Amino acid sequence: MFSTVVSGAVKGIMPYLMQVEVDTSDGLPMFNMVGFISGDVREAAERVRVALKNAGYPLPPMRITVNLSPADIRKSGIAVDLPVAIGILTAVGEIDSENLKDTLVIGELGLDGEVKAVSGVLPMVSHAFKCGFKTCILPADNAREGAVVQEMKIVGVESLSEAVAYLKTDADERDEIIPPTVVDVDELFREAGSYEDYLKGIDFSEINGQAAVKRAVEIAAAGYHHILLIGPPGSGKSMVAKRIPSIMPPLSREEALEVSSIYSVAGMLKKGETLITRRPFMSPHHSITEAALAGGGTIPHPGVISLSHRGVMFLDEMAEFKRNTLNLLRQPLEDREVHIARSGGNFSYPADLLLVGAMNPCPCGYYPDLNKCKCSEGEITKYLGRISGPILDRIDICIEAAKIDVSELSHGTQCNESSADIRKRVTAAVKVQQRRFEKEGIRFNSEMNPSQIQKYCKLGIQEQRLMERIFTTMDLSARAYHKVLRVARTIADLENSERIEASHLTEAACYRMMDTKYFSKSGLSAEQSIAGKTSVNLRKPAEGGTL
Ligand SMILES: [Zn+2]
Repeated sequence: MFSTVVSGAVKGIMPYLMQVEVDTSDGLPMFNMVGFISGDVREAAERVRVALKNAGYPLPPMRITVNLSPADIRKSGIAVDLPVAIGILTAVGEIDSENLKDTLVIGELGLDGEVKAVSGVLPMVSHAFKCGFKTCILPADNAREGAVVQEMKIVGVESLSEAVAYLKTDADERDEIIPPTVVDVDELFREAGSYEDYLKGIDFSEINGQAAVKRAVEIAAAGYHHILLIGPPGSGKSMVAKRIPSIMPPLSREEALEVSSIYSVAGMLKKGETLITRRPFMSPHHSITEAALAGGGTIPHPGVISLSHRGVMFLDEMAEFKRNTLNLLRQPLEDREVHIARSGGNFSYPADLLLVGAMNPCPCGYYPDLNKCKCSEGEITKYLGRISGPILDRIDICIEAAKIDVSELSHGTQCNESSADIRKRVTAAVKVQQRRFEKEGIRFNSEMNPSQIQKYCKLGIQEQRLMERIFTTMDLSARAYHKVLRVARTIADLENSERIEASHLTEAACYRMMDTKYFSKSGLSAEQSIAGKTSVNLRKPAEGGTL
């Protein structure tokens, strides 16, 4: 007898449908699995045999062949136990194959017949829905995750016997055996939109002082500009970084599905968890391995870069990261995707994140305070040089976080602006960009290529002259010149100004400290040089509840 059960698997983050074909025939009893499978998948045969026996369905003394197709994808690290067991029972006539129509079966088995949770359920169920499937039989622990795909009927099973009992029941009585799992997705988003419990104890209103830093991260969040905070220990760099997700617009449904799919594949959705509805914030330690950062293993798992997708990746003590580890970021920051090559094929994971770096200005942390800093020039250059040019190239905004003085610390928090207020401005600026780039295939100002910059960052004659002065005074590279324009565009958008004004340009230029003050040999201060040579006053950081 012959049967086919449809199951699902993921390669990287790409889901695909898998046909589990089972043939039983007379002959020497044996159990054979084929179909470009690796050793770990082959082991399923033994688990299925024991699980079936313990569930009260001992394997008949027959020749059993299981084929997994498509044959061109190497199957490794995937769970096929439950579909194989169901396939065998269908082939021997225990289950009517009609009852498996339009049904996807996913799950791993324990020896006692328990159905165990698997990773990657969300992308598999979404894909199955697009392919016209109507019912999914899933491990009970994954049921809520699958039920996010609202139109699909989700049946969560605890054990093999439960799955068999369900499939042996007539269609109209099945819901009484196992009621379908239902999740209120609207409610999930309402909770996420309120941000309340999320922000308990983590709000910008708690940060006194640091007006310039707050202003810079607002611009970074609004235009998705990678940002580097430089300052001495105790200047609150990580306090600020942790609060950046709280000023970003809530995840859209589409984004939430993307993020949740990555966490699902990584096996990082907690038991019973459904959707990740809040922007991720990942803060890897500087000792992190390259594999953990970018994704690794024989079957690569998403790394921290991908787990930060649509959120923030905060690299504290950025200069302490190994050079090779930091250099790994180059390609994902450029492509917004991580590519990993393995013998089993090439894998890609999304990695559209906001990079927030923080570092001390020198080994002791006090440069440029020459009274305190005892580092030699060579030591400082070497320290800053740990962040390679290609990574700095991808950072649009660099801001100095000064040490907070006592008067600021002792001040109350009542007059500080809250995250919700800042988020309103950021969200408005994001909407302006969405409208602007509707037909461009990008989402944020930071993604503009040179021709898009030409189109959307048109300057008036005076502004053009100012920009030329900035270019020569700061000795900017062409790349840095474009960055100034991108950031200026975001600053203008925050003010809902169609025109890029001189004040927007000078403020944007001040965030190029890495080109001058810290990272170049000249030691020229950007602020001083521009302010000194132009009649335009430096824009003050936004008023807004500090001091
Ligand atoms: Zn120092």
